[in-house]
Amino acid sequence: MQSPTSSALVVTLPGDKGYAALSMPWNVAFTQAPAAIAAPTSVQEVVEAVRFARENDLTITVQGTGHNVAARSGRPLDQTLLLRTDALKGVEVDAERRRARIMAGALWAEVTEPAAEHGLAPLSGSSPDVGAVGMSLGGGVGWLVRKHGLSSESILAVELVTADGAVVRADAEQNPELFWALRGGGGNFGVVTAIEVQLHPVPELYAGWLVFPAERTAEVFTAWRAWTDTVPEEVTSTVRYLQLPPIPDIPEPMRGARIAVVEAAILASPERGAELIAPIRELGPIMDSFDAMPVSALVALHQDPVGPTPAYGHHRMLADVTPGTIAALMEVAGPDSGSPLLGLELRHLGGRVGRREPGHGALGALDAGFLLFGVGAVMDPALGEAVEARLTQLFEATAAWDAGKVYTNFVERPVDTAAVFDEVTYARLRAVKAQVDPGDVFRANLPIAPAS
Ligand SMILES: Cc1cc2nc3c(=O)[nH]c(=O)nc-3n(C[C@H](O)[C@H](O)[C@H](O)COP(=O)(O)OP(=O)(O)OC[C@H]3O[C@@H](n4cnc5c(N)ncnc54)[C@H](O)[C@@H]3O)c2cc1C
Repeated sequence: MQSPTSSALVVTLPGDKGYAALSMPWNVAFTQAPAAIAAPTSVQEVVEAVRFARENDLTITVQGTGHNVAARSGRPLDQTLLLRTDALKGVEVDAERRRARIMAGALWAEVTEPAAEHGLAPLSGSSPDVGAVGMSLGGGVGWLVRKHGLSSESILAVELVTADGAVVRADAEQNPELFWALRGGGGNFGVVTAIEVQLHPVPELYAGWLVFPAERTAEVFTAWRAWTDTVPEEVTSTVRYLQLPPIPDIPEPMRGARIAVVEAAILASPERGAELIAPIRELGPIMDSFDAMPVSALVALHQDPVGPTPAYGHHRMLADVTPGTIAALMEVAGPDSGSPLLGLELRHLGGRVGRREPGHGALGALDAGFLLFGVGAVMDPALGEAVEARLTQLFEATAAWDAGKVYTNFVERPVDTAAVFDEVTYARLRAVKAQVDPGDVFRANLPIAPAS
Protein backbone atom coordinates (compact mmCIF):
# COMPACT_ATOMS: atom_id res chain seq x y z
CA MET A 1 0.00 0.00 0.00
CA GLN A 2 1.37 3.44 -0.96
CA SER A 3 1.91 5.91 1.89
CA PRO A 4 -0.03 9.17 1.97
CA THR A 5 1.71 12.06 0.24
CA SER A 6 1.86 14.14 3.41
CA SER A 7 3.76 13.10 6.49
CA ALA A 8 1.05 14.75 8.65
CA LEU A 9 -1.72 12.26 7.94
CA VAL A 10 -1.33 9.00 9.85
CA VAL A 11 -2.76 5.91 8.17
CA THR A 12 -3.02 2.89 10.45
CA LEU A 13 -2.88 -0.57 8.91
CA PRO A 14 -3.78 -4.02 10.32
CA GLY A 15 -1.01 -5.05 12.69
CA ASP A 16 0.00 -1.44 13.45
CA LYS A 17 -0.03 -0.18 17.03
CA GLY A 18 -3.39 1.45 17.73
CA TYR A 19 -5.28 -0.42 14.97
CA ALA A 20 -7.50 -2.33 17.44
CA ALA A 21 -8.55 0.81 19.34
CA LEU A 22 -9.13 2.86 16.17
CA SER A 23 -11.30 0.17 14.57
CA MET A 24 -13.60 -0.05 17.61
CA PRO A 25 -17.04 1.53 17.10
CA TRP A 26 -19.28 2.93 19.89
CA ASN A 27 -21.48 -0.14 19.57
CA VAL A 28 -18.97 -2.76 20.68
CA ALA A 29 -21.32 -5.64 19.89
CA PHE A 30 -19.82 -5.23 16.39
CA THR A 31 -16.23 -5.50 15.21
CA GLN A 32 -14.66 -3.92 12.13
CA ALA A 33 -11.54 -4.94 10.22
CA PRO A 34 -10.85 -2.19 7.65
CA ALA A 35 -7.96 -2.33 5.16
CA ALA A 36 -6.73 0.98 6.62
CA ILE A 37 -7.83 3.65 9.08
CA ALA A 38 -7.30 7.42 8.93
CA ALA A 39 -8.31 9.90 11.61
CA PRO A 40 -7.57 13.29 9.97
CA THR A 41 -7.17 16.34 12.19
CA SER A 42 -7.80 18.99 9.51
CA VAL A 43 -9.67 19.47 6.24
CA GLN A 44 -6.32 19.23 4.41
CA GLU A 45 -5.73 15.82 5.99
CA VAL A 46 -9.22 14.74 4.93
CA VAL A 47 -8.26 15.61 1.34
CA GLU A 48 -5.08 13.55 1.74
CA ALA A 49 -7.01 10.62 3.19
CA VAL A 50 -9.41 10.65 0.21
CA ARG A 51 -6.40 10.74 -2.18
CA PHE A 52 -4.75 7.90 -0.28
CA ALA A 53 -7.87 5.75 -0.66
CA ARG A 54 -8.14 6.52 -4.38
CA GLU A 55 -4.46 5.77 -5.02
CA ASN A 56 -4.84 2.42 -3.27
CA ASP A 57 -8.17 1.46 -4.87
CA LEU A 58 -10.00 1.52 -1.56
CA THR A 59 -13.58 2.58 -0.98
CA ILE A 60 -14.24 4.95 1.93
CA THR A 61 -16.56 4.58 4.88
CA VAL A 62 -16.89 7.66 7.06
CA GLN A 63 -17.51 7.11 10.74
CA GLY A 64 -18.23 9.72 13.38
CA THR A 65 -18.76 7.60 16.48
CA GLY A 66 -19.91 4.20 15.26
CA HIS A 67 -23.32 4.46 16.97
CA ASN A 68 -24.88 3.26 13.72
CA VAL A 69 -22.37 0.52 12.86
CA ALA A 70 -25.03 -2.22 13.12
CA ALA A 71 -26.67 -0.94 9.92
CA ARG A 72 -23.62 -1.99 7.89
CA SER A 73 -22.98 -5.31 9.60
CA GLY A 74 -22.26 -8.15 7.20
CA ARG A 75 -20.43 -5.90 4.74
CA PRO A 76 -16.67 -6.41 5.22
CA LEU A 77 -14.29 -3.45 5.17
CA ASP A 78 -11.29 -5.34 3.78
CA GLN A 79 -11.16 -3.11 0.68
CA THR A 80 -12.13 0.03 2.58
CA LEU A 81 -10.49 2.98 4.30
CA LEU A 82 -12.32 3.70 7.56
CA LEU A 83 -12.21 7.48 7.79
CA ARG A 84 -12.85 8.49 11.40
CA THR A 85 -13.91 12.09 11.93
CA ASP A 86 -13.61 12.23 15.72
CA ALA A 87 -10.42 14.33 15.67
CA LEU A 88 -12.15 17.09 13.66
CA LYS A 89 -13.32 18.98 16.74
CA GLY A 90 -14.84 22.44 17.05
CA VAL A 91 -18.15 24.24 17.53
CA GLU A 92 -18.75 27.96 16.92
CA VAL A 93 -21.99 29.56 18.09
CA ASP A 94 -23.21 32.79 16.50
CA ALA A 95 -25.84 33.79 19.07
CA GLU A 96 -26.97 36.86 17.16
CA ARG A 97 -27.78 34.95 13.98
CA ARG A 98 -28.86 31.87 15.97
CA ARG A 99 -26.49 29.62 14.09
CA ALA A 100 -23.79 27.09 14.93
CA ARG A 101 -20.96 25.75 12.79
CA ILE A 102 -20.31 22.19 13.89
CA MET A 103 -17.20 20.27 12.91
CA ALA A 104 -17.60 16.60 11.98
CA GLY A 105 -16.13 15.26 15.22
CA ALA A 106 -18.46 17.12 17.59
CA LEU A 107 -20.74 15.09 19.84
CA TRP A 108 -24.18 16.51 20.65
CA ALA A 109 -23.23 17.52 24.21
CA GLU A 110 -20.39 19.62 22.75
CA VAL A 111 -22.99 21.59 20.77
CA THR A 112 -25.83 21.83 23.28
CA GLU A 113 -23.61 23.31 26.02
CA PRO A 114 -22.28 26.41 24.20
CA ALA A 115 -25.68 26.98 22.55
CA ALA A 116 -27.46 26.82 25.93
CA GLU A 117 -25.27 29.63 27.26
CA HIS A 118 -27.33 31.85 24.94
CA GLY A 119 -30.70 30.17 25.69
CA LEU A 120 -30.49 28.42 22.32
CA ALA A 121 -30.78 24.77 21.32
CA PRO A 122 -29.76 22.73 18.28
CA LEU A 123 -32.07 19.89 17.20
CA SER A 124 -30.04 17.34 19.16
CA GLY A 125 -31.12 13.78 19.92
CA SER A 126 -31.61 11.77 23.07
CA SER A 127 -27.95 10.91 23.55
CA PRO A 128 -25.10 13.28 24.51
CA ASP A 129 -22.45 11.28 22.64
CA VAL A 130 -24.11 10.62 19.28
CA GLY A 131 -22.34 12.55 16.50
CA ALA A 132 -24.11 15.82 15.69
CA VAL A 133 -23.16 15.59 12.01
CA GLY A 134 -23.95 11.87 11.55
CA MET A 135 -27.35 12.18 13.21
CA SER A 136 -28.26 15.35 11.30
CA LEU A 137 -27.32 13.87 7.91
CA GLY A 138 -29.65 10.94 8.61
CA GLY A 139 -32.67 12.96 9.72
CA GLY A 140 -32.67 13.39 13.50
CA VAL A 141 -35.58 12.88 15.87
CA GLY A 142 -34.96 14.83 19.09
CA TRP A 143 -36.87 16.46 21.92
CA LEU A 144 -37.96 19.44 19.78
CA VAL A 145 -38.99 17.34 16.77
CA ARG A 146 -42.74 17.99 16.89
CA LYS A 147 -42.19 21.74 17.15
CA HIS A 148 -39.16 22.22 14.85
CA GLY A 149 -38.93 19.06 12.69
CA LEU A 150 -36.00 16.86 11.74
CA SER A 151 -32.43 17.93 12.56
CA SER A 152 -31.58 17.53 8.86
CA GLU A 153 -33.97 20.38 8.11
CA SER A 154 -32.10 22.71 10.45
CA ILE A 155 -28.94 22.35 8.32
CA LEU A 156 -28.16 25.61 6.50
CA ALA A 157 -24.91 24.59 4.80
CA VAL A 158 -22.61 21.59 4.45
CA GLU A 159 -18.86 21.63 3.89
CA LEU A 160 -17.46 18.43 2.42
CA VAL A 161 -14.57 16.79 0.62
CA THR A 162 -15.78 14.88 -2.44
CA ALA A 163 -14.34 11.79 -4.14
CA ASP A 164 -12.08 13.89 -6.42
CA GLY A 165 -10.54 15.57 -3.36
CA ALA A 166 -12.34 18.89 -3.90
CA VAL A 167 -13.43 20.99 -0.90
CA VAL A 168 -17.04 21.89 -1.64
CA ARG A 169 -19.78 23.93 0.04
CA ALA A 170 -23.40 22.99 -0.48
CA ASP A 171 -26.29 25.23 0.57
CA ALA A 172 -29.48 26.65 -0.90
CA GLU A 173 -27.45 28.75 -3.43
CA GLN A 174 -24.29 26.74 -4.08
CA ASN A 175 -24.70 23.13 -5.24
CA PRO A 176 -28.39 23.07 -4.23
CA GLU A 177 -29.00 19.57 -5.58
CA LEU A 178 -26.14 18.16 -3.51
CA PHE A 179 -27.43 20.14 -0.50
CA TRP A 180 -30.82 18.51 -0.97
CA ALA A 181 -29.28 15.02 -1.21
CA LEU A 182 -27.05 15.36 1.87
CA ARG A 183 -30.06 16.06 4.12
CA GLY A 184 -31.17 12.44 4.47
CA GLY A 185 -28.76 10.81 2.02
CA GLY A 186 -26.00 10.96 4.63
CA GLY A 187 -22.47 9.73 4.07
CA ASN A 188 -22.85 8.73 0.40
CA PHE A 189 -21.53 11.90 -1.20
CA GLY A 190 -18.27 12.76 0.54
CA VAL A 191 -16.64 13.42 3.89
CA VAL A 192 -18.66 16.12 5.57
CA THR A 193 -16.16 18.22 7.50
CA ALA A 194 -18.66 20.70 9.00
CA ILE A 195 -22.31 21.72 8.97
CA GLU A 196 -23.96 25.02 9.79
CA VAL A 197 -27.26 24.68 11.59
CA GLN A 198 -30.11 26.85 12.80
CA LEU A 199 -30.44 27.16 16.58
CA HIS A 200 -33.78 27.62 18.30
CA PRO A 201 -34.56 29.81 21.32
CA VAL A 202 -35.94 27.81 24.24
CA PRO A 203 -37.02 30.39 26.82
CA GLU A 204 -39.08 27.92 28.87
CA LEU A 205 -38.79 24.19 29.29
CA TYR A 206 -40.76 21.85 31.56
CA ALA A 207 -39.52 18.28 31.34
CA GLY A 208 -39.00 15.05 33.25
CA TRP A 209 -40.01 11.45 33.91
CA LEU A 210 -43.15 9.95 35.41
CA VAL A 211 -42.31 6.45 36.61
CA PHE A 212 -44.78 3.61 37.23
CA PRO A 213 -44.34 0.03 38.46
CA ALA A 214 -43.95 -2.66 35.77
CA GLU A 215 -47.39 -4.18 36.37
CA ARG A 216 -49.03 -0.92 35.19
CA THR A 217 -47.17 -0.87 31.84
CA ALA A 218 -50.14 -1.68 29.56
CA GLU A 219 -52.32 0.88 31.38
CA VAL A 220 -49.59 3.55 31.10
CA PHE A 221 -48.99 2.87 27.38
CA THR A 222 -52.76 3.11 26.78
CA ALA A 223 -53.13 6.37 28.71
CA TRP A 224 -50.08 7.88 27.01
CA ARG A 225 -51.43 6.95 23.56
CA ALA A 226 -54.78 8.66 24.29
CA TRP A 227 -52.95 11.71 25.70
CA THR A 228 -50.82 12.12 22.54
CA ASP A 229 -54.02 12.93 20.61
CA THR A 230 -54.58 15.95 22.85
CA VAL A 231 -51.16 17.62 23.05
CA PRO A 232 -49.90 20.59 21.01
CA GLU A 233 -46.65 20.58 18.99
CA GLU A 234 -44.82 22.08 21.98
CA VAL A 235 -44.96 18.62 23.59
CA THR A 236 -42.64 15.82 22.43
CA SER A 237 -42.86 12.64 24.48
CA THR A 238 -42.03 8.96 24.71
CA VAL A 239 -43.34 5.99 26.63
CA ARG A 240 -41.00 3.19 27.65
CA TYR A 241 -40.95 -0.12 29.40
CA LEU A 242 -37.48 -0.56 30.92
CA GLN A 243 -35.83 -3.59 32.48
CA LEU A 244 -32.70 -1.98 33.83
CA PRO A 245 -29.70 -4.22 34.53
CA PRO A 246 -28.38 -4.48 38.12
CA ILE A 247 -25.09 -2.75 37.27
CA PRO A 248 -23.22 -0.12 39.34
CA ASP A 249 -23.40 2.41 36.43
CA ILE A 250 -27.13 2.77 37.11
CA PRO A 251 -27.85 4.66 40.37
CA GLU A 252 -30.35 3.47 42.99
CA PRO A 253 -33.38 3.30 43.01
CA MET A 254 -33.29 2.58 39.25
CA ARG A 255 -30.63 -0.16 39.43
CA GLY A 256 -32.24 -3.45 38.40
CA ALA A 257 -35.71 -1.83 38.28
CA ARG A 258 -38.57 -2.84 35.94
CA ILE A 259 -40.60 0.27 35.22
CA ALA A 260 -42.91 2.04 32.79
CA VAL A 261 -41.90 5.63 32.08
CA VAL A 262 -43.59 8.57 30.39
CA GLU A 263 -41.04 11.18 29.47
CA ALA A 264 -41.68 14.55 27.88
CA ALA A 265 -40.11 17.85 26.94
CA ILE A 266 -42.70 20.61 27.03
CA LEU A 267 -41.83 24.02 25.62
CA ALA A 268 -43.86 25.98 28.16
CA SER A 269 -43.87 27.56 31.62
CA PRO A 270 -44.09 25.24 34.67
CA GLU A 271 -47.77 26.21 35.11
CA ARG A 272 -48.73 25.44 31.52
CA GLY A 273 -46.46 22.36 31.50
CA ALA A 274 -48.15 21.00 34.64
CA GLU A 275 -51.54 21.52 33.00
CA LEU A 276 -50.43 19.63 29.90
CA ILE A 277 -48.91 16.65 31.74
CA ALA A 278 -51.80 16.43 34.28
CA PRO A 279 -53.66 13.51 32.60
CA ILE A 280 -50.57 11.29 32.97
CA ARG A 281 -49.64 12.62 36.41
CA GLU A 282 -53.18 11.81 37.62
CA LEU A 283 -52.39 8.11 37.09
CA GLY A 284 -50.28 8.35 40.28
CA PRO A 285 -46.61 7.72 39.44
CA ILE A 286 -44.16 6.31 42.02
CA MET A 287 -41.61 8.91 40.91
CA ASP A 288 -42.13 12.34 39.32
CA SER A 289 -39.12 14.38 38.16
CA PHE A 290 -41.03 16.97 36.07
CA ASP A 291 -39.78 20.48 36.70
CA ALA A 292 -38.61 23.64 34.97
CA MET A 293 -35.26 22.78 33.39
CA PRO A 294 -32.45 24.67 31.72
CA VAL A 295 -32.23 23.77 28.05
CA SER A 296 -28.72 22.36 28.67
CA ALA A 297 -30.32 19.48 30.63
CA LEU A 298 -32.33 18.21 27.66
CA VAL A 299 -29.54 16.17 26.08
CA ALA A 300 -29.32 14.00 29.22
CA LEU A 301 -33.08 13.65 29.83
CA HIS A 302 -33.36 10.20 28.22
CA GLN A 303 -30.36 8.86 30.23
CA ASP A 304 -28.88 7.08 27.21
CA PRO A 305 -25.66 5.14 27.83
CA VAL A 306 -22.48 7.11 27.20
CA GLY A 307 -19.28 5.47 26.00
CA PRO A 308 -18.75 2.09 24.32
CA THR A 309 -21.88 -0.07 24.68
CA PRO A 310 -22.76 -3.53 23.30
CA ALA A 311 -26.34 -3.41 21.98
CA TYR A 312 -28.73 -4.79 19.39
CA GLY A 313 -31.74 -2.73 18.37
CA HIS A 314 -34.55 -2.76 15.84
CA HIS A 315 -37.28 -0.30 14.90
CA ARG A 316 -40.48 0.16 12.99
CA MET A 317 -42.27 3.35 11.98
CA LEU A 318 -45.92 2.91 12.93
CA ALA A 319 -48.84 4.55 11.14
CA ASP A 320 -50.78 4.37 14.41
CA VAL A 321 -50.76 2.79 17.85
CA THR A 322 -54.10 1.13 18.62
CA PRO A 323 -55.23 -1.03 21.56
CA GLY A 324 -54.22 -3.97 19.32
CA THR A 325 -50.68 -2.59 18.91
CA ILE A 326 -50.29 -2.20 22.67
CA ALA A 327 -51.56 -5.75 23.23
CA ALA A 328 -49.01 -7.03 20.68
CA LEU A 329 -46.18 -5.04 22.34
CA MET A 330 -47.08 -6.38 25.80
CA GLU A 331 -47.29 -9.96 24.56
CA VAL A 332 -43.81 -9.90 23.01
CA ALA A 333 -41.92 -7.45 25.22
CA GLY A 334 -44.12 -6.46 28.19
CA PRO A 335 -43.55 -7.30 31.87
CA ASP A 336 -45.05 -10.83 31.68
CA SER A 337 -43.43 -11.79 28.37
CA GLY A 338 -40.05 -13.05 29.63
CA SER A 339 -38.44 -10.58 27.22
CA PRO A 340 -34.66 -10.08 27.49
CA LEU A 341 -34.94 -6.53 26.08
CA LEU A 342 -33.67 -3.64 28.13
CA GLY A 343 -35.99 -1.11 26.53
CA LEU A 344 -39.25 -1.00 24.59
CA GLU A 345 -39.99 2.52 23.42
CA LEU A 346 -42.58 4.51 21.49
CA ARG A 347 -41.78 8.05 20.35
CA HIS A 348 -44.60 10.40 19.39
CA LEU A 349 -44.10 11.94 15.93
CA GLY A 350 -46.51 14.19 14.03
CA GLY A 351 -46.57 17.97 14.15
CA ARG A 352 -43.75 19.64 12.22
CA VAL A 353 -41.87 16.36 11.61
CA GLY A 354 -44.82 15.11 9.58
CA ARG A 355 -44.87 18.11 7.22
CA ARG A 356 -42.73 18.11 4.08
CA GLU A 357 -42.13 21.75 3.14
CA PRO A 358 -40.62 23.53 0.12
CA GLY A 359 -36.84 23.68 0.44
CA HIS A 360 -36.66 20.52 2.53
CA GLY A 361 -33.97 17.91 1.90
CA ALA A 362 -34.27 14.34 0.63
CA LEU A 363 -35.78 12.97 3.84
CA GLY A 364 -37.75 16.10 4.74
CA ALA A 365 -40.39 14.55 6.99
CA LEU A 366 -41.45 11.26 8.54
CA ASP A 367 -44.79 9.93 7.35
CA ALA A 368 -45.67 8.03 10.51
CA GLY A 369 -47.50 8.64 13.76
CA PHE A 370 -45.07 6.84 16.05
CA LEU A 371 -41.60 5.36 16.13
CA LEU A 372 -41.15 1.97 17.82
CA PHE A 373 -37.70 0.99 19.07
CA GLY A 374 -36.58 -2.10 20.93
CA VAL A 375 -33.09 -2.55 22.35
CA GLY A 376 -31.17 -5.09 24.38
CA ALA A 377 -27.70 -5.12 25.93
CA VAL A 378 -25.46 -7.85 24.54
CA MET A 379 -23.32 -8.94 27.48
CA ASP A 380 -22.59 -12.40 26.02
CA PRO A 381 -23.36 -14.37 22.82
CA ALA A 382 -26.29 -16.29 24.34
CA LEU A 383 -27.97 -13.08 25.46
CA GLY A 384 -27.22 -11.60 22.03
CA GLU A 385 -29.09 -14.45 20.33
CA ALA A 386 -32.04 -14.09 22.69
CA VAL A 387 -32.18 -10.31 22.09
CA GLU A 388 -32.00 -10.72 18.30
CA ALA A 389 -34.78 -13.32 18.33
CA ARG A 390 -37.02 -11.13 20.50
CA LEU A 391 -36.43 -8.05 18.34
CA THR A 392 -37.45 -10.07 15.26
CA GLN A 393 -40.59 -11.20 17.10
CA LEU A 394 -41.36 -7.61 18.08
CA PHE A 395 -40.92 -6.50 14.49
CA GLU A 396 -43.18 -9.27 13.14
CA ALA A 397 -45.87 -8.71 15.80
CA THR A 398 -46.29 -5.06 14.77
CA ALA A 399 -46.40 -5.52 10.99
CA ALA A 400 -50.10 -4.65 10.80
CA TRP A 401 -49.39 -1.05 11.89
CA ASP A 402 -46.35 -0.46 9.67
CA ALA A 403 -46.15 3.03 8.18
CA GLY A 404 -44.50 1.75 4.98
CA LYS A 405 -40.99 3.20 5.33
CA VAL A 406 -37.98 2.76 7.58
CA TYR A 407 -36.33 5.61 9.51
CA THR A 408 -32.73 6.18 8.39
CA ASN A 409 -31.09 6.77 11.76
CA PHE A 410 -32.83 3.92 13.59
CA VAL A 411 -31.77 1.27 11.05
CA GLU A 412 -29.86 -1.32 13.09
CA ARG A 413 -29.97 -4.19 10.60
CA PRO A 414 -28.89 -4.07 6.96
CA VAL A 415 -31.80 -2.91 4.77
CA ASP A 416 -32.28 -1.92 1.15
CA THR A 417 -31.93 1.89 1.11
CA ALA A 418 -34.94 1.98 -1.24
CA ALA A 419 -37.04 1.18 1.86
CA VAL A 420 -36.27 4.66 3.25
CA PHE A 421 -37.32 6.90 0.36
CA ASP A 422 -40.13 7.03 -2.17
CA GLU A 423 -39.27 5.99 -5.72
CA VAL A 424 -38.84 9.50 -7.13
CA THR A 425 -36.64 10.66 -4.24
CA TYR A 426 -34.48 7.55 -4.43
CA ALA A 427 -33.95 7.95 -8.19
CA ARG A 428 -33.00 11.62 -7.63
CA LEU A 429 -30.51 10.64 -4.91
CA ARG A 430 -28.92 8.10 -7.25
CA ALA A 431 -28.62 10.80 -9.93
CA VAL A 432 -26.80 13.13 -7.50
CA LYS A 433 -24.53 10.25 -6.49
CA ALA A 434 -23.70 9.63 -10.17
CA GLN A 435 -22.64 13.27 -10.48
CA VAL A 436 -20.49 13.67 -7.38
CA ASP A 437 -19.25 10.11 -6.83
CA PRO A 438 -19.63 8.16 -10.09
CA GLY A 439 -17.04 5.58 -8.99
CA ASP A 440 -19.03 4.79 -5.81
CA VAL A 441 -16.07 5.52 -3.55
CA PHE A 442 -18.19 6.51 -0.53
CA ARG A 443 -20.07 3.64 1.08
CA ALA A 444 -22.41 4.85 3.81
CA ASN A 445 -24.20 2.53 6.19
CA LEU A 446 -27.27 3.00 4.03
CA PRO A 447 -25.58 2.86 0.62
CA ILE A 448 -26.84 4.72 -2.44
CA ALA A 449 -25.44 3.39 -5.73
CA PRO A 450 -24.85 5.86 -8.58
CA ALA A 451 -27.55 5.87 -11.27
CA SER A 452 -26.33 3.99 -14.32
C1 LIG B 1 -27.79 5.45 22.26
C2 LIG B 1 -28.32 6.00 20.95
C3 LIG B 1 -29.21 7.08 20.98
C4 LIG B 1 -29.70 7.60 19.79
N1 LIG B 1 -30.60 8.63 19.82
C5 LIG B 1 -31.11 9.11 18.66
C6 LIG B 1 -32.09 10.15 18.67
O1 LIG B 1 -32.51 10.63 19.71
N2 LIG B 1 -32.58 10.57 17.48
C7 LIG B 1 -32.14 10.06 16.29
O2 LIG B 1 -32.61 10.51 15.23
N3 LIG B 1 -31.21 9.10 16.25
C8 LIG B 1 -30.70 8.60 17.41
N4 LIG B 1 -29.81 7.59 17.37
C9 LIG B 1 -29.38 7.06 16.07
C10 LIG B 1 -28.23 7.90 15.55
O3 LIG B 1 -28.71 9.15 15.12
C11 LIG B 1 -27.59 7.19 14.35
O4 LIG B 1 -26.99 6.02 14.84
C12 LIG B 1 -26.59 8.11 13.66
O5 LIG B 1 -26.29 7.54 12.41
C13 LIG B 1 -25.35 8.29 14.49
O6 LIG B 1 -24.42 9.14 13.87
P1 LIG B 1 -22.89 8.98 14.27
O7 LIG B 1 -22.08 9.85 13.41
O8 LIG B 1 -22.80 9.12 15.75
O9 LIG B 1 -22.66 7.43 13.93
P2 LIG B 1 -21.77 6.70 12.83
O10 LIG B 1 -22.11 5.25 12.98
O11 LIG B 1 -20.37 7.07 12.99
O12 LIG B 1 -22.26 7.25 11.44
C14 LIG B 1 -23.53 6.98 10.95
C15 LIG B 1 -23.65 7.31 9.48
O13 LIG B 1 -23.43 8.69 9.26
C16 LIG B 1 -22.41 8.89 8.29
N5 LIG B 1 -21.54 9.97 8.73
C17 LIG B 1 -21.21 10.28 10.00
N6 LIG B 1 -20.39 11.34 10.00
C18 LIG B 1 -20.19 11.68 8.72
C19 LIG B 1 -19.43 12.68 8.07
N7 LIG B 1 -18.67 13.55 8.76
N8 LIG B 1 -19.44 12.74 6.72
C20 LIG B 1 -20.16 11.88 6.01
N9 LIG B 1 -20.91 10.92 6.56
C21 LIG B 1 -20.92 10.82 7.90
C22 LIG B 1 -21.65 7.58 8.24
O14 LIG B 1 -21.08 7.36 6.99
C23 LIG B 1 -22.68 6.57 8.59
O15 LIG B 1 -23.33 6.09 7.45
C24 LIG B 1 -29.31 7.04 18.54
C25 LIG B 1 -28.41 5.95 18.53
C26 LIG B 1 -27.95 5.42 19.72
C27 LIG B 1 -27.04 4.22 19.66
